[in-house]
Amino acid sequence: MTLTLRDNYSEAFKIIEPHGFVSLEAVGGEDLTIVNAARASFDQQSRLHFDWFPAWFDNDEDCECDTPNGRYLDNKPTLSKKDRGLINFLMREGHTSPFEQVESWWRMRLPIFVIRQWQRHRMAEMNEESGRYSVLKDEFWLPVGPGAVRTQVGKPGAYTFEAMEDDTAKYVIDRMEGQNNAAIETYRELLDLGVAKEVARAVLPVSMYSTFVWKVNLHTLFHFLRLRNDEHAQREIREAAAVMEQMIRPHVPVAMEAFDKKYGRGQYAEVVCHG
Ligand SMILES: Cc1cc2nc3c(=O)[nH]c(=O)nc-3n(C[C@H](O)[C@H](O)[C@H](O)COP(=O)(O)OP(=O)(O)OC[C@H]3O[C@@H](n4cnc5c(N)ncnc54)[C@H](O)[C@@H]3O)c2cc1C
Repeated sequence: MTLTLRDNYSEAFKIIEPHGFVSLEAVGGEDLTIVNAARASFDQQSRLHFDWFPAWFDNDEDCECDTPNGRYLDNKPTLSKKDRGLINFLMREGHTSPFEQVESWWRMRLPIFVIRQWQRHRMAEMNEESGRYSVLKDEFWLPVGPGAVRTQVGKPGAYTFEAMEDDTAKYVIDRMEGQNNAAIETYRELLDLGVAKEVARAVLPVSMYSTFVWKVNLHTLFHFLRLRNDEHAQREIREAAAVMEQMIRPHVPVAMEAFDKKYGRGQYAEVVCHG
């Protein structure tokens, strides 16, 4: 398997705009990989099969498709009912290690305050852009869009967030933008003075964007999605997690269905858009 190399990410899925994106670079494994990891217990293996083949072959002699191979190739092989049942069983009973056999590689650009939350998910591998070796780009996040500037109401652990009045929101965005501009100006001035990048970056805010690559197995990814594509997670990281949940879905459809079923997903699985 080869990882995709791209020159630019303008086509990647845009999130946490204006500079954020998430790109699924590669997936290693599929539903069958999970099945066969579990079947290793009995030194057995499953194969994909074509559900529809026996039905028309046995019953439909007038089938317009006189070249079985043509029809055969047009259809995608699937897991048998037994293997789908096995994935459901593994998920339901918490037999998690077979899900670890599926890996995914992601590339993202997100505000640093989101990445700080991301880094708490330790059972994954991350490499991030370096502020020691490269001059950081003038790219900052601002809470633009309906409800993005919000106030916190309630007690710790049970906060709700309410949109602030338009006038206040505008003032907040102006103030934040002013801070970003002042910070980048100081950063450049310090670099011009010959200050090392690793020192000069200390003036930059957590709203600055940074790029990282993330390798994560499906077990950890499910755990991440449960915690971060959830109403308790901060809106910005949830936006990223919601998009990722949809991006990984077609690669492991049976495992995703089992995940949805066990954790009553659906209500959180929609992509959150913030205008
Ligand atoms: C809504 C929300 C609010 C949060 N608030 C805060 C906060 O205020 N401050 C803060 O620091 N974090 C906070 N976190 C992060 C949280 O505490 C977890 O670190 C984060 O969600 C990652 O979960 P995890 O440790 O289960 O995942 P991973 O790090 O991916 O670990 C996966 C699993 O591996 C096992 N594991 C990993 N490391 C160890 C270890 N060292 N010892 C034993 N078992 C281990 C555990 O079973 C763990 O569940 C918050 C998370 C959420 C979702």
